[in-house]
Amino acid sequence: MKITEIVTSTVIVPNGPPVSAYYGANTYVVARIRTDEGLEGLGYTMLIGGMGAGAVRTYLEESIIPLILGRDPLRIGAIWRDMYENDRGLRKKGIPVYAMSAIDIGLWDLLGKSVDRPVWHLLGAHNESIPVYGSGGFLPYTVDQIVEEAEGFRAQGCRHYKFKLGRDDVMENVERVRQVRAALGDDMEILVDANQRWDVATNIRVGHALEDCNLFWYEEPVLADNIDQCAEVAAAISIPVATGENEYTRYGFRDLIDAGAAQYLNPDIHRCGGFTEMMRIAHLAAAYDIKIAPHLVPELSISVLAAIPNASLVEVLAGSPDNLWEVGPEIIDGHMAPPNRPGHGMTFTDEAIRDYTATQ
Ligand SMILES: [Mg+2]
Repeated sequence: MKITEIVTSTVIVPNGPPVSAYYGANTYVVARIRTDEGLEGLGYTMLIGGMGAGAVRTYLEESIIPLILGRDPLRIGAIWRDMYENDRGLRKKGIPVYAMSAIDIGLWDLLGKSVDRPVWHLLGAHNESIPVYGSGGFLPYTVDQIVEEAEGFRAQGCRHYKFKLGRDDVMENVERVRQVRAALGDDMEILVDANQRWDVATNIRVGHALEDCNLFWYEEPVLADNIDQCAEVAAAISIPVATGENEYTRYGFRDLIDAGAAQYLNPDIHRCGGFTEMMRIAHLAAAYDIKIAPHLVPELSISVLAAIPNASLVEVLAGSPDNLWEVGPEIIDGHMAPPNRPGHGMTFTDEAIRDYTATQ
């Protein structure tokens, strides 16, 4: 088989609440990988808030597509290595890895379609379903809105819910967690996410103040660039720390693990290097008994979680658009099952393509 054409496009999907409180829309940079055998793989990468989307598409068109046209798309490992090693100028964080991830995701889709098997079978089927954690509770939300959102997830069978820390009045955050815990009771696990907003001292102060709230994890305490500071927080507080959504490739995750930065790792399949690299990251973490709970993108992350021994939770964001996929990810009794469709199993609806594709 040969890659004959890769067609790129930009799909801008408006956000509803709670994400619209931060970002009006997310942008998907899409790469349709076509072959001489008539099969097509759907690759895509998502830029939250659309930031950098134009640069990712340009990098794809100028630096990656010319490199892989004419290649055998089933040699995914070799293509991944060449995408990674061909560019000796840019460090592989940010734009280049978003672009590589899109291609890798499209190649796995193509491989699955070529043998009529779902990607999670090809990755090493392991788990039939994974518990979902509901995610939301953005900073403008009142405690009542947070509790209502959590109860919505509980009604779908979910036992884990995450909301945001980071309001300016530091102790107000502690009070909000106490109120949410009191309202939800003890049979719901609560996860909190600081989104890199605080310094080490503030995180340790908040972490200590929350010690009796029985929290499941404390996410992204400090700027993602400061791995040693994340490790400092993880060592100082009794709540398990989670991080990694802003890290790239196995090299970045090696540094997180070496530093002891977290007990849970949150790779993002669009940022870390696609299916190929997320599997490497998961296996590296497995050697340390560190669990994987990917950042967002449940429709693809679920195929990795289904194929690894150290799967933790799959994240479902409140208000995710329900008109994007022909068959979207589904919560059944608090769990998500990987799709039993060839490839990664995702196809944009005609409506999404019509309404959200940017004209250029
Ligand atoms: Mg987060």
